[in-house]
Amino acid sequence: MSTIDAILPPATLGMLGGGQLGRFFVHAAHEMGYQVWVLDPDANSPAGRAADRHILAEYEDFAALDLMAETCAAVTTEFENVPAGTLDYLAKFIPVRPGAAAVSVCQNRIVEKTFLADNGLPHGAFRALRSVDDLNDLPDDLFPAILKVARFGYDGKGQVTVHDAAQALHAFNEFGGEACVLEKRLSLDCEVSVVLAREASGSVTVFPVAENRHRHGILDVSITPARVDDALAVQARQLAEHIATQLGYVGTLAVEFFISGGALYVNEMAPRPHNSGHATIDANVTDQYMQQVRALCGLPLGLPRAHSAAVMVNLLGDLWYRTGDERAHEPDWSVLHAVPNLRLHLYGKHHARAGRKMGHFTVVDTDVEAALVAALAARTAIG
Ligand code: ADP
Ligand code: MG
Repeated sequence: MSTIDAILPPATLGMLGGGQLGRFFVHAAHEMGYQVWVLDPDANSPAGRAADRHILAEYEDFAALDLMAETCAAVTTEFENVPAGTLDYLAKFIPVRPGAAAVSVCQNRIVEKTFLADNGLPHGAFRALRSVDDLNDLPDDLFPAILKVARFGYDGKGQVTVHDAAQALHAFNEFGGEACVLEKRLSLDCEVSVVLAREASGSVTVFPVAENRHRHGILDVSITPARVDDALAVQARQLAEHIATQLGYVGTLAVEFFISGGALYVNEMAPRPHNSGHATIDANVTDQYMQQVRALCGLPLGLPRAHSAAVMVNLLGDLWYRTGDERAHEPDWSVLHAVPNLRLHLYGKHHARAGRKMGHFTVVDTDVEAALVAALAARTAIG
């Protein structure tokens, strides 16, 4: 059992990162009676604007971290690239959940894949590339492969498909010779993810498996429950729980999987709530952000059960631009509000950019196929 006393309202919680995931955490924490301070260097960050206080500073601004540590009872994060040194520094004063050790595994694709290999977790073939020498003697069956920068990649950025060692070398140099992983490109039956929460005591609650469709490397549609074989869903949930335990994880964690040739492969982990878990806000007894608050505060986790099937559709900045028009136009949201079992979430971002996640909607229904049909129709209608 955890020896730390529960943190109760009206305590102030700290959030490192000001994106939409942080904003939903702020909403959940507010609903539960807490105050939230958000640290983010962007004056218009979605979470910062919803918070009780937005500390406008860089993540390695120690005066800002001191301020946070003085007021906040505990701190968490909403994106994996918070420097481990920042988490370690705050941990000297207040609980930091998840901790730097777990976050740093998820920050670097080489460390992450090595963690999977060392723990006997199923993963695709890969090579760590730290210098051009590592490109010698690559096995032919690694190709076609995807070269990914080890750090700071997201939404398919910093990735390129290569068909042989010469192309891999060219792409490695194009990325400036920074550390990369080269992974075999799997032929995918589908992709799924598991979001879970783990308490300091070690108890884990696992959300239903989500089935994910990507467009141009960005999550597009997420369907829960995933329409996959029951045995695979059980295995995915078990693997995710095992990963959380091995990481000594406290908080909300997401694990992305590939299904290829009927078998599961771990793709990557995210040490935070996940885009594919957004639907839990609208379809589950306790959502992924409430679990993050609960785990952070040392409260028992809530029931993760879904009361509806749900289909979540991301709304990217592209929607703001009509063909042949350079100016951004607000989409006609009344089209979505006309669907009674649809819930629209907009993040209040100031600038719509192509590929930028501006919002999402979730369609709930007792039947997953009906939810999918309605969600896709709504997406076509909005443009
Ligand atoms: P990100 O951090 O951008 O989410 P991912 O490694 O999850 O990076 O890659 C984004 C998407 O690209 C995946 O969800 C999948 O659709 C595709 N992808 C990535 N790696 C592979 C692979 N090894 N084989 C097949 N598809 C892949
Ligand atoms: Mg991913």
